[in-house]
Amino acid sequence: MKLAARVGRVDASGIRRIFDLAKSLKDPINLSIGQPDFPVDDKVKDAACAAIRADRNSYTQTQGLAELRDLSLAEEKAHTGRSYAADEILITSGVSGGLFLALLALVDDGDEVLIPDPYFVMYKHLVRLFGGVPVYLDTYATGFIPTPEAIERACTSRTRLMLLNSPANPTGRIIPADVLQGIAKVCERRGITAISDEIYRLFSYGPCPSISTFLPDTVTLVGHSKSYAMTGWRCGYACGPKAVIEAMTKVQQYSFVCAPSVAQYGALAGPQVDHRPNIAAYKAKRDLVVGILRPTFELAPPDGAFYLWAKVPGGLTGQQFVEKAIANNCLIIPGGVFSERDTHIRICYTVPDAKLKAGAELLVKLAR
Ligand code: PMP
Repeated sequence: MKLAARVGRVDASGIRRIFDLAKSLKDPINLSIGQPDFPVDDKVKDAACAAIRADRNSYTQTQGLAELRDLSLAEEKAHTGRSYAADEILITSGVSGGLFLALLALVDDGDEVLIPDPYFVMYKHLVRLFGGVPVYLDTYATGFIPTPEAIERACTSRTRLMLLNSPANPTGRIIPADVLQGIAKVCERRGITAISDEIYRLFSYGPCPSISTFLPDTVTLVGHSKSYAMTGWRCGYACGPKAVIEAMTKVQQYSFVCAPSVAQYGALAGPQVDHRPNIAAYKAKRDLVVGILRPTFELAPPDGAFYLWAKVPGGLTGQQFVEKAIANNCLIIPGGVFSERDTHIRICYTVPDAKLKAGAELLVKLAR
């Protein structure tokens, strides 16, 4: 069978290989899973179950339930100060669905897309799938924050887009407002559109500004996977200028059709959920793991999300260190999965405190 050339341009995520390895371990200390460990709130579960029982199981509008769009626009106004018209929002099948549609709508063959390195793995593969060229902005010298100067330097006549992720996977870093303002100026001058992946915005342990406040040509992607711990339900939204949202809606009509209806009904109960205990718990876990690792590992302290990005000491590569950890029944992800370099490891701290402490202490022992 002859496969399309475009699938040859992407390969399976390195994370999958770790997850496959995980299956072979008995009761590992698993610091590799990028999802919350709290359950879906009962109010969200009840709303979804009630929708199923009331026979609201058919397609929704391609754009998503009107009520959920209104709710999401109110969330945007509250978080970023930005108001959108009713045709500037689309409910998507998670942020992955939003990324897929946004890149499909915006990337032409040969277009260059700026991606701060380290990055979320999906970005480069989707860019390649759609014929674009990923251009990596190495952020190791600037605390994993992309700077306006570096963006300016990386721009060519083919630069079309920039992907931003704040708070970031894998570093947990948040891009400060003044830096975002500088980035917005470069983008405006160069005619670059930003795609802002804000899936972790709920998990911010300080202020969490959005580039959409400063740059009109931004497509903002928000998801319910992590905030509501419903990664399997596939729900989120995209908002931005009408032209791009319309293009994305057109493609959604011929692909995803709509985001899963039951997940949309569940997400309607979102405002009833008190997220504060979960955020406080993850902030405390961050402090716990940073406290244990800091004397031994070079860290850029994370301001959000639920990841820690640590440099492997002693000249080992991320992969070599991860192999040592796996031999000791602890799972973490090598930095090379998220970067053009392999000098770091990613630790996800959404595990019970006792496991987290045991895992962090083991990593310290292995590093010595
Ligand atoms: N963006 C980032 C940065 C992520 O870490 C993830 C999930 N790991 C996604 C997007 C995809 O999320 P969703 O479940 O909403 O598709």
